[in-house]
Amino acid sequence: MCKPFLIDAHIHLDLYEMEEREKILQELDLYSVEALISVSFHLQSSKQNLAFANRDRRIKAAAGFHPEQELPSVREVDELLAYIQRNHEDLAAIGEVGLPYYKMKSDPSMVLTPYIELLERFIIESKLLDKPIILHGVYEHAPIICDLLEKHSVSKAHFHWFKGDKETIERMIRNGYYVSVTPDVLYEEEIQQLVRNYPIERLMVETDGPWRFGDVFQERMTHPGMMHRSIEKIAEIKGMSEAAVYKQMFWNTSEFYGI
Ligand SMILES: [Zn+2]
Repeated sequence: MCKPFLIDAHIHLDLYEMEEREKILQELDLYSVEALISVSFHLQSSKQNLAFANRDRRIKAAAGFHPEQELPSVREVDELLAYIQRNHEDLAAIGEVGLPYYKMKSDPSMVLTPYIELLERFIIESKLLDKPIILHGVYEHAPIICDLLEKHSVSKAHFHWFKGDKETIERMIRNGYYVSVTPDVLYEEEIQQLVRNYPIERLMVETDGPWRFGDVFQERMTHPGMMHRSIEKIAEIKGMSEAAVYKQMFWNTSEFYGI
């Protein structure tokens, strides 16, 4: 039986080795993957992802600056924002943007303020262009991001691989934000709990590839086909049929990204 269709709501296609990327693209039909949202690390990465999208209509590009790295120069930021403005009609979203939670864990002396200011510029841009925004923001950084989104009345927000406290989760649900879960929903209790608490109408599935996973996915290249396992697990947690979860995830993602 043919599996129902999937969309990978968050993948870094440009970060795969060329052979791996080719293999994934060749196998999309085999795994019934209809589309991929390919998010970017910086300007060069944004250009790369848009070039992929122009060659293969199943790829939808998002342009942004990943927060888990050194801050860009003022010129780099201006160039990236100008690039987004020039190409907004061909971009599915702004992302990946957010705050550097893991970088700060390894270097607590880091100053967060310039990262918040940079994120605010992307949020303002997403409002101006009416584009969805893809956020990397977990634990105590998530309420800071919610403050910014509320300040600018941005509701088309997707927190990818979200982790956070109950209060923030409730706030995000009230605001209608979306969250996506990676294949670690199979073995991470924290993610399973998020799926339990979050409305099915606001959930998506993703891989965040080429990031690699553990447990049953140990030693395997991250592939969008892995999301079939995520769907199985979400259906089990939610007490729904797999068919209903496939349908809902597909609807949520295509509706949110307008694809
Ligand atoms: Zn990512």
